[in-house]
This record gives sequence, C-alpha cells and structure tokens, in this order.
Amino acid sequence: MEVRCPHCGNVQSVSEDVFGNREKVDVACLACGKTFRVVSPKVATVRIETTRKSVPTVNLEYTEDGRLLALPQHKEISLRVLEGNEAGTVFSVAKPRITIGRSNADITIDDRAVSRLHCALEISEDSVLLRDLGSTNGTIVGNQLVETATLTSGSTFRVGMHIFQLLITSKGA
Ligand SMILES: [Zn+2]
Repeated sequence: MEVRCPHCGNVQSVSEDVFGNREKVDVACLACGKTFRVVSPKVATVRIETTRKSVPTVNLEYTEDGRLLALPQHKEISLRVLEGNEAGTVFSVAKPRITIGRSNADITIDDRAVSRLHCALEISEDSVLLRDLGSTNGTIVGNQLVETATLTSGSTFRVGMHIFQLLITSKGA
C-alpha cells in the first residue's frame, strides 16, 4: 500500500505484512526520517453506527433552528481522511448530521489542535453544509476560516492537523 508522510508529503510503499494483527503501525519516512502512524487497510474503513439503525426515520433529523436534514436516497456520503493521524480512514456517513471532534463526536480524532466538538456536516437532499461549532482553531476551507461552507464531492477541509475530503457517490456504484 502507498502511504503519504504527513510531515513532508513523501509517498512510499509499505508492505501490508508489517501490520500483523495490529491496526496501526508507526512508519519512518524514507525522505525526512520522521515517523507517522499508518492504519491497516483491513480496518481503514469504519462505519459510523447510527443510534436507531432499524428505525426508518433515522434518515431524517432536524437542526436546532428547525431545518430538515436528510440523507439523499440514492447517494452514499463518506469522508476520507487525507492527512493526519487517521490518514487513510474512510468514514461512511450514515446520518444526516455528524460531528467531528476530539471527544464524544460522531467522528472522534486524536488531534490536539482539534476542539472537543469542532465542526459538523449537515446533509440535506441537495446539499452538504460544513459548520464550525465554535472551535478554537477554526475550520478551514481553501485556506480560509469558515463558519459555514457548502461542500461538493471532492471538497476538502482542514480541522487541526487533519484534512478531510467529502465523497458523494451513487448507491450501488
Ligand atoms: Zn517525511
């Protein structure tokens, strides 16, 4: 598998054998010599469990200001981590509002530069809105701090040391 050094951007290949039964290993960058953590491809896909998985209305949710959120019926939404400790992880988004943060978030990442509840994605049938939740270091889209930003498939945003990419694909594709 190919891995990218978060310190210098060097790409190198790592044998999947190095993981053994471990989920993550520390790899030394061949270019800059720093170490970084790599997630085994076996566990690189994490599904976010919904709390009411068997209830059909799980696809709908209201925001605090009363806007209806809904997962699109014919599309799958996921977040791929491009940089940071969780690089390589793909989070499948299984509810219309998900939070990202350092603790008690739907997507919890180990990153000191990330606030406990840092930002949220609010998904409705025709748009995905990224919302900063009053984080200390801010949510960054295209080098700018944003309070909210509309994302499309392929859009990236930064929280702390992590860069996420939104992926929207057709179901069954
Ligand atoms: Zn490096």
